Amino acid sequence: MSRELVIASKNKGKIREIQQILADLPVRVVTVPDLPDVVEDGSSFASNARKKAVELACHTGRWCLADDSGLEVDALRGAPGIHSARWSGGGDEANNEKLLHELRDVPPAARTARYRAVVVVADPEGRVVAEAEGACEGIIGFVRRGTGGFGYDPLFIVPDLGCTMAELPADTKNRISHRARALAGLREPLTRSLGGV
Ligand code: IMP
Repeated sequence: MSRELVIASKNKGKIREIQQILADLPVRVVTVPDLPDVVEDGSSFASNARKKAVELACHTGRWCLADDSGLEVDALRGAPGIHSARWSGGGDEANNEKLLHELRDVPPAARTARYRAVVVVADPEGRVVAEAEGACEGIIGFVRRGTGGFGYDPLFIVPDLGCTMAELPADTKNRISHRARALAGLREPLTRSLGGV
């Protein structure tokens, strides 16, 4: 009898947020060491999320949850999009540096952007049993602010709150984020599917 769900990710920020967002469900969201890398060669968040969930469910023989997510900047015609994680070739810091550079001549009103996430659950046989998506609108700032979150959060201003994602307490980010919205759509099918385990 298992009510564990393996997170198909090595991204510590993502893992922490998914565990916090799903903390109230009767499911233990766990990580496993030495997950193999999945080649993310899909053309959309959805195809990459499905691929990660299915490949790692087959590899582990366990229920798996994958999140594929990223930042779409309107002035960059949707970039970095599905390439968000490795956009600069460096890590988060280099990505943020590149974002500031690419937008150096873009005025505040044209710095609109959004985070998107697609979350997918696969069963131990590698069948997709649930899928949902979420988005969160924002503006790209001119300077980094805050130390919370991860990735592009120090530059991602949430207009309604007047601060960056990185300045928000974790529980606030976890109520309004693209990831929170996507996972909200997964709660009912997830509880139903795992209830039968
Ligand atoms: P993935 O692991 O291929 O889905 O790539 C996710 C990448 O998108 C991260 O490495 C970040 O660069 C970016 N990203 C996704 N979600 C967030 C978030 O909540 N905050 C900041 N950056 C994010």
